[in-house]
Amino acid sequence: MEDGLILLDQEWRIVYANNAARRISRIEPHHINGPSHWELYPETVGTTQEAIYRQSMEQRISLQHEFYHQPFEVWIGLRTTPVPSGIAVHYRNITRQRHDAEEQRRKSEEAERQAAEIETVYRTAPIGLALFDLADFRYLRLNERQAAFFGLKPEEVVGRTLTEMAPIPGLKQLFEQVAAGTPVVNYPLEGELISHPGEHRYWTVNYSPVRAPDGTVQAISAASLEITQQKKAEQALIQSEKLAAAGRMATSISHEINNPLEAVTNLLYLIATADNLSSPTREYVQLAQSELARVSEIATQTLRFYRQAVKPSLVTAEQVITPVVELFRRRLANAQVTVKVELKTEAEFECLEGEIRQVLSNLIANAIDAIREGGQIVFRAHDAVDQATGRRGVRITVADNGAGMSEDTRARVFEPFFTTKELNGTGLGLWISAEIVQRHQGQLSARSSQAPHRHGTVFSLFLPLAQNAQQPY
Ligand code: ADP
Ligand code: MG
Repeated sequence: MEDGLILLDQEWRIVYANNAARRISRIEPHHINGPSHWELYPETVGTTQEAIYRQSMEQRISLQHEFYHQPFEVWIGLRTTPVPSGIAVHYRNITRQRHDAEEQRRKSEEAERQAAEIETVYRTAPIGLALFDLADFRYLRLNERQAAFFGLKPEEVVGRTLTEMAPIPGLKQLFEQVAAGTPVVNYPLEGELISHPGEHRYWTVNYSPVRAPDGTVQAISAASLEITQQKKAEQALIQSEKLAAAGRMATSISHEINNPLEAVTNLLYLIATADNLSSPTREYVQLAQSELARVSEIATQTLRFYRQAVKPSLVTAEQVITPVVELFRRRLANAQVTVKVELKTEAEFECLEGEIRQVLSNLIANAIDAIREGGQIVFRAHDAVDQATGRRGVRITVADNGAGMSEDTRARVFEPFFTTKELNGTGLGLWISAEIVQRHQGQLSARSSQAPHRHGTVFSLFLPLAQNAQQPY
């Protein structure tokens, strides 16, 4: 559209207006050399427009101004130029330009915002992100998370190769596949990183070819999510499921065999007390009785473990240790093992007395098994505080100077069915003991040494004075 042009004289009268100006500003013929600009357009009085006209007129300078013309709803761009008789004013409708410029600004702002957003996601996403070159799969770019897999900063990893950082079998082949154009989607990867040897870790990875406009592959982008924690939790769950299943099985087996066992025990007793037995028969019966005693021990051990909890009582260490030592008096004497009991506490703690006795019985039985003739077992009891929770309690230790255990054995003693005694062991004693102690919110741990002059084992049992009310046995 043509620019509007008007000439104003020094009295602010319009002395000339071109066609465009007549149209845009609605200038009638009688307005020429008629009323002043300020009378014709009172809405301009007091605006920047007036200030500019006056400044241009007085100082004889050219000025520019853009403004929104409310009545016509348009943007106007104007320029004043001093002329001998007054000033010339050029103006044009710049609404379209203004809108285009505005649109442009909005678009570039939006683009900037998106870029910043993507950058933030890239830097902070809990996913390792990286870009590799094709030549030897070197890191071109990577985010903090990806670098953190190696315990490094991104700049310390850039330039190093994939296989150098993650020597995982099969990984290079995967990359070769991606370089050839086939993406890898949600692939489970596991192995060790150069930075953490010996640490087996798990990821889910996505690798994609990055293509140039002509379709050729230029780089490889990689997104890796570490799932080691989930994997470990999963494995722990499977393990505890197994334990629970083993426990249920043990319970039902002991239930099933307990009744026939009692009947056979009674029958054997009747046979053994008959007076007309020949001497080999008597020996066989005795043998049968002792074998049966072993079977019933296994059965009662497991059954007792799962029987209904009775009411807990308050006892001292002495009240649980003494009867156990008494119970083993004969076996100790047979094995020529001496026992010492050192009590340094009279504190009363809350427990299921029978169960804690069972734990101590298991410990003393194991100690006797580990000791050769002439050994010694020492029971100690003292007040103690649980380091982890700060709870007060009693600590009972059972120390023997027997053979001791290897580190491998010590690590496994609390597993069900783990025994080094072949057919003479059930591998249930310590497993059950640990479960009992756990239900008492206590702790059971072992130290052991096989060193020639100080071999032996110490089991340490911590029991809190009182249980947290919410957790029943
Ligand atoms: P079991 O006595 O039937 O073998 P336990 O669960 O009681 O089952 O013990 C598991 C294993 O722990 C034993 O076979 C033994 O190897 C080891 N062990 C337990 N206590 C001692 C100890 N005091 N000295 C040496 N080894 C022990
Ligand atoms: Mg045992």
